Amino acid sequence: MKQLTERQKLCYGFANRYLTELVLPEQTITLHKNAVQPLSDLMTALKNDDLPIKVISHWRSFDHQLAIWQKKWSGERPLLDRDSKPLEVDHLTDQQKLEALCFWSALPGTSRHHWGTDFDIFLSEPIAQGHRVELVQSEFGKNGVCESLGYWLDNNLADFDFYRPYSEYRGGVCPEPWHISYRPEANPLLNEIRATEVALLVRQCNLPGGETLLNELQDYLQNYVFNVS
Ligand SMILES: [Zn+2]
Repeated sequence: MKQLTERQKLCYGFANRYLTELVLPEQTITLHKNAVQPLSDLMTALKNDDLPIKVISHWRSFDHQLAIWQKKWSGERPLLDRDSKPLEVDHLTDQQKLEALCFWSALPGTSRHHWGTDFDIFLSEPIAQGHRVELVQSEFGKNGVCESLGYWLDNNLADFDFYRPYSEYRGGVCPEPWHISYRPEANPLLNEIRATEVALLVRQCNLPGGETLLNELQDYLQNYVFNVS
């Protein structure tokens, strides 16, 4: 494996000195050191407004993202269409599989969850009441279990230097109202992503569909990675 700098490790999902752990009563979160205080402040403010949250996804390694990709590619984990309906992977071409996969999941090395600055959040209460978290838009839409959280985020998120990079559909990734990003650390990292490094990492892990995707890597990065709110 090529030697990466600490900064590149942070950018592409490998253990590095920028990460730390935040231990909460109900969960331990791995995240960027500089996001600890802002996330804590955000969670406290939500709690004070009777909207306590749970962090569903925090830092995710390259290998974790690779496992998600491999499982969806093989059908071991459901590969969904744009309406959240499961697809029959055996009946799809590589190109069709890539399109479905990229709508929901990032190419390993390009997930914002590699940075420790981005989190998927959900209200604690419906989870405590037995709601199975799916992270689909209906949960944050009208009468969804997290409608109140979505509304609160619309009005308050910017006060905490967070924003939602996938707040609306922009032709790439599906809208993810649950995905929040700590802007001061995330924005510089987005600018540090290089196609040449991503291509190296994808080749090294023999990613299924990887060679097809690498043929159009610049388009992928433009439409799915740099194309944020
Ligand atoms: Zn996310």
